[in-house]
Amino acid sequence: MSASIKPLASWKGQDRYFCEVMSSLTCIFLSGGCSWNRCRMCGYKNDRNTCGSRKELIEHMNAQIAWISENYASDEYELGKIFTSGSVLDPVEVPHEVLDSFKRLFAGKSVIIESRVEYVTEDALSRFLSTLDQGQLHPLTVAIGLETTNDAVRDKSINKGFSFEDFVHAADICYDAGVGVKAYLMMKPLFLTEQEAMADMQNSIAEVAPYADIVSMNLCTVQGRTELEQYWHRGEFRPPYLWSAMKVLLNADTAVTCDPIGGGFRRGPHNCGICDKDIVAAINEYSLNADKSILQAVWDVGCSCKKEWEYVLDNETPWNMPLTD
Ligand code: SF4
Ligand SMILES: [Zn+2]
Repeated sequence: MSASIKPLASWKGQDRYFCEVMSSLTCIFLSGGCSWNRCRMCGYKNDRNTCGSRKELIEHMNAQIAWISENYASDEYELGKIFTSGSVLDPVEVPHEVLDSFKRLFAGKSVIIESRVEYVTEDALSRFLSTLDQGQLHPLTVAIGLETTNDAVRDKSINKGFSFEDFVHAADICYDAGVGVKAYLMMKPLFLTEQEAMADMQNSIAEVAPYADIVSMNLCTVQGRTELEQYWHRGEFRPPYLWSAMKVLLNADTAVTCDPIGGGFRRGPHNCGICDKDIVAAINEYSLNADKSILQAVWDVGCSCKKEWEYVLDNETPWNMPLTD
């Protein structure tokens, strides 16, 4: 096996981290793949290493980490963001020996990793923190895809397989270990009307805020080879309007970060195609500096499609789950 292998993706950028804007390096590594692998909207589960043995997986991941250290000088960024197509703390997907390579690569920096709740353990966190933690403020933050604080929506619309209570428990483990918590929420999973999706997001932001240092709103996109894509092809799903995202951000009492991935495209959050670009730019800027006046300015300019969005909010009909069997 060669000494270094290019990861799935990596790029430099800027991120808001604990009220500070930091230069960041985002890395997406090919891992063993998500062990849960069942969420209705998730296409990441298609990215998995099929190389076989645990030893080969460790070598392959270490080779990707070597590529990052060869291609980015350490002084080029302050914050490292590590993503796999699942959970960095899942020992089957990312053998814990690989955590040791991550912490050596990012020693002394701030790091965000993503994980499902069941893999957030005191042992995994303290293993990651040793070497990584060199006295810097907020060395490690675990990002958890809670998606919504509503257990029924998370179960029926997403099939996530854990509860809000499980999230709170994982957050407690993080806080006890001196690790930060980032909550990912997802606007408009399957089966919700635009109005219901907005209400769900508004409640979720308010309810998760006491348990998370950073709240991040993802806007649902239609990823390939997913159950959600099948609904979308049949005209049974539309990604959220960017107006909905703007409205939620404007109303939120907490600063919420949002990267409107796929913004303006049919498979991503979109409006009419004319106003989308300005709104996406405003949301990105707001995510960095938490200044609502940027959002308000674009909101006030408006667009003729705002009427269509208002009509949808008033007229879309929910297709209820039965209350009884
Ligand atoms: S959303 Fe996360 S937990 Fe769900 S299948 Fe995808 S990678 Fe796994
Ligand atoms: Zn428009």
